[in-house]
Amino acid sequence: MGMTIFERIIAREAPGRIVYEDDQVVAFHDVRPQAPVHVLIVPRKPIPRVGLAAPEDKLLLGHLLLKAAEVARQLGLSETGYRLVINNGRDGGETVHHLHCHLLGGRPMHWPPG
Ligand code: AMP
Repeated sequence: MGMTIFERIIAREAPGRIVYEDDQVVAFHDVRPQAPVHVLIVPRKPIPRVGLAAPEDKLLLGHLLLKAAEVARQLGLSETGYRLVINNGRDGGETVHHLHCHLLGGRPMHWPPG
């Protein structure tokens, strides 16, 4: 399998508006934002989807969520709130097969989701 678009953004082979990165995760703006703030938090490790994460990914997944909350704070969403979304598989709406957590904010979110 070739590299996903997210691996190419992480490798700086494709453009991405990166807002945070460390040795385990990279966060960048979604190219088709669904809210005033729409950032994707992505592990450097190319896990295709959360359903394929392994027990040894436990610390990485925890780190990903903590960093999603940190990025939300940095982008000024703490007071108003935000939503974190992970789409898994066809019915979940997964289109890029590299695990990512959507951070959505800047407007009220609806429930149930579409
Ligand atoms: P999902 O449908 O959960 O797999 O989410 C994939 C997300 O990646 C969508 O919200 C897309 O808009 C976003 N996306 C696709 N290509 C790019 C790109 N080159 N840069 C930033 N975001 C992208």
